[in-house]
This record gives sequence, structure tokens and C-alpha cells, in this order.
Amino acid sequence: MKRVLVTGAAGFLGSHLCDRFIKEGFYVIGMDNLITGNMENIEHLMALENFEFYHHDVSNYVHVPGNLDYILHFASPASPIDYLKIPIQTLKVGSLGTHNLLGLARAKSARMLIASTSEVYGDPLIHPQTEEYYGNVNPVGPRGVYDEAKRFQEAITMAYHTFHGLETRIVRIFNTYGPRMRLNDGRVLPAFIGQALRGEDLTVFGDGSQTRSFCYVDDQVEGIYRLLMSDYPHPVNIGNPDEITISQFAEEIIKLTGTDQKVIYKPLPKDDPMQRQPNITKAKEILGWEPKVDRKEGLKITYDYFKSLPEEKLYKKEH
Ligand code: NAD
Ligand code: UDP
Repeated sequence: MKRVLVTGAAGFLGSHLCDRFIKEGFYVIGMDNLITGNMENIEHLMALENFEFYHHDVSNYVHVPGNLDYILHFASPASPIDYLKIPIQTLKVGSLGTHNLLGLARAKSARMLIASTSEVYGDPLIHPQTEEYYGNVNPVGPRGVYDEAKRFQEAITMAYHTFHGLETRIVRIFNTYGPRMRLNDGRVLPAFIGQALRGEDLTVFGDGSQTRSFCYVDDQVEGIYRLLMSDYPHPVNIGNPDEITISQFAEEIIKLTGTDQKVIYKPLPKDDPMQRQPNITKAKEILGWEPKVDRKEGLKITYDYFKSLPEEKLYKKEH
């Protein structure tokens, strides 16, 4: 049985990845310090014989007994308000955490995949973003703690590949959504759905003309799985190119939830990227991958998930 370590296992993407590896017949070791994650996301796995969980902060030395075939490093706060609240931990998990896991991968001769992000492109000056674009990041702005941690993460991963011959993979993930996102994590989709369910106005930041391109989680997991199994060590964008303005997105959520909420406008956070859309030519050519779930379908599944949560989650204040 192949053995895989998933860091950030109790989070949104990490828990879906654990599910996928279990389905593929792997022995899965999940690791998480629960700083933004939730054990509920993996409680259905805890009794399985081929799953085990370590409660551990990967910014500290990481020890895993036995052999490992693959490591997927997904531990990191991912929502802007999370990483603004815990900026130093964010920098540490991207840098020290990645270094620890690369060391572990070397010791175990494991292949390592890191979760990078479209944020390495910052507020992009070319559109759509190709992997060749170097990005436009403000290192000392509020988002710098996340963006630069991820850029460092890519650099050290590539260095381990080049200098130590380690097998590495780099996925640049564009905005991904689906069940198990935290209703109050501040990201736009849970924010809007939560507001609609509570009967509040939807808060659009800025004039709402900034764009994002939202990818459903099952498509994202499929892309990540294919990249891991490929032999391609350079960064690959995985995301859905279907681009939408945030104002249009708010209207879609109002229609989906069947509410008659209003949209209210709040100031745009500093360095908020004005446009974001992945060019996925590489993923298509190298992995034979493209997204299959359109936004209407993905939003419906996600809305049904949020609606099924106990009411106290809807009113839980985290920030
Ligand atoms: P999430 O917050 O749901 O999951 C992150 C998990 O990492 C949480 O369970 C958290 O407790 C854990 N974690 C954080 N710091 C840790 C540490 N030091 N040690 C151990 N565990 C730690 O976020 P997510 O959306 O699932 O994101 C997962 C990964 O994917 C992150 O690396 C993120 O940067 C990346 N990513 C996500 C998106 C997206 O749209 N969801 C986009 C780009 C990149
Ligand atoms: N946003 C918004 N209202 C909210 C939350 C977010 O208008 O209540 C905007 C945010 O300013 C950004 C976009 O939605 O332009 C996506 O934000 P998110 O935090 O989901 O992720 P980002 O892509 O910025 O990392």
C-alpha cells in the first residue's frame, strides 16, 4: 500500500485530498495543528485502518515513522482574514514548514507536492495569468505575508529539486470552493452565502469590478492528483478560467439563495488583486486536465452544504 502524508488535512482542500487518496487505496497520514482547520472535516476517516492523524505544527520539526511515497504540503492559512490575523505563523508554515517537509521527503525518498497559489502573481499586470509570468507582489503590504511565503515555498522546493534531485511538484491553485469551507473564513463565497442565509446585505468590497475565477473542489483535487502522478516539476496553474466580477458574483448568490438581499459596498482591502484568471494550457497539455463542474452546479452543491449546517455555525463570530 502506497503511503501519503497530507499536511493541512483537517482543512478544506486537505480533507478532500485525504478522501481522494483513501478512495485510491492509499495509506493516508493526515497532519494538522487545527489553527484554521476542523476535525469535523475528517472525522469520517478517523476509524479507518488506512488513516491516521497527527496533531502537529509543521513549522516545528516533523517526524513520521515508517516509509512515505508522497508528501502533499497543504498546511497554511488560506483566507486573507486568516493570514492577516496570524501573519507570522503564515510566513513560518510556508518557509520553515516547507523546509521541514522537504527534509522529510529527502529522508524518505518521497515525492513532494506543494500547494502554491495564484497569489504568487499578486495584482497581475498580464491577463490571463500564465505560469511564465513573474508576478506583481508588494512584499511589505498586508498580503505579503502569504504571497511571499508561497513564493519562497516555490523557490526552496525548486532548489531541492535542482540541488538534491528531489522529485517535486508545484500546483498554483486559483480560487477554489466547495463543501467544508468555513462559513466565517471571510472568503467571498462563504461570506456571501452566510450573509444571504442570515438575511444580511451582501458586502461587496470596492466597486465590485475586480474579477475572480472560481474552481469547484472536485475539479481541483483531480488536477492536483494528476499533477502528483505526472513527471512535471515546474509550476502548473489549476483553476477554472470562467471569470466573473465580484458584483456579478453577488447577484448570482442572491439568485441562487432566492433571497432579496441588497448589495452594499465597503472599501477595497489594500493590494486586493483587480483581476485573476488562470491560463490552463499547461494543465490541458501536460495533465490532460480541464474543469468539468460549471459554477451553477458547483454553487448549488456548496449552498446545500452550508444550508445543512447547524444554525449556531451560521452565527459563530470568528473575526
Ligand atoms: P484551510 O484553512 O481550510 O486549510 C489549511 C489547513 O492547514 C487548516 O486545517 C489549518 O489548521 C492547517 N494549518 C495551518 N498552519 C499549520 C501548521 N503550521 N501546521 C499544521 N497545520 C497547519 O485552507 P484551504 O483552502 O484548504 O487551503 C489549503 C492550502 O491550499 C493552503 O496551503 C492554501 O494556501 C492553498 N490554496 C488554497 C486556495 C483555495 O482557494 N482554497 C487557493 C490557493 C492556494
Ligand atoms: N470580497 C468581497 N466581499 C467579501 C469578501 C471578499 O467583495 O465579503 C472580495 C475581495 O475583496 C476580493 C474577492 O472578493 O476582491 C475575493 O476575495 P477572497 O477573500 O475570497 O479571496 P482572494 O481571491 O482575494 O484571495
